[in-house]
Amino acid sequence: MINRVIGSIGILLAALVASAATHAADGDLPSPIGNLPGPKKVIKTEQEWAKQLTQIQFAVTRRKATEPAFSGKLLRNHALGTYVCVCCGQPLFNSRAKFESGTGWPSFWTPLAADRIQTAPDYHNPEPRIEVTCSRCDAHLGHVFDDGPPPTGLRFCMNSVALKFVPDAKAKAKTKATAKPSPSRSPMPTPESPPAADPSAPGSPPPTPSP
Ligand SMILES: [Zn+2]
Repeated sequence: MINRVIGSIGILLAALVASAATHAADGDLPSPIGNLPGPKKVIKTEQEWAKQLTQIQFAVTRRKATEPAFSGKLLRNHALGTYVCVCCGQPLFNSRAKFESGTGWPSFWTPLAADRIQTAPDYHNPEPRIEVTCSRCDAHLGHVFDDGPPPTGLRFCMNSVALKFVPDAKAKAKTKATAKPSPSRSPMPTPESPPAADPSAPGSPPPTPSP
């Protein structure tokens, strides 16, 4: 049973690695921060992590705790941007892969790239799970389940406190512009750019590259 569950997720993850490679080639789900040359391990002592992180961040990322459901600040975040590791800053997820799972934790159907995360069997619960950690600093991020939406069918169930949100520069500028409407005086009428069509419909698959 345990092996079957883990095996099926393993197969899905293997498929994800393949599809992530395709996405990278197509420039899909781009990271505004740029692509890292590859995970270069960040190793710190417990004391160093404790100093850098808040108590809850430390408990979750370094002690594998789970934040209470519906408590995370990023749960309802729908802004465009990148979710990076709170410990080492490695870009992990794009907002376009985020969806409402209803579970109480931020959920994604794919990481930015397969090499950004590591997975391992977790036998701490009666029901076996697959733990997800940051490939760069080994921070515990959450778990991955096989009940996610297409195209991967995966649900990366992440702790909000394990992530930091970095808004897209473009989206940030737009938010700033719309946040302060100046009805009385508008010295520089900027040309209205048409809104991007359906920026991130939750769970909607990304444009599939035509063969
Ligand atoms: Zn990390």
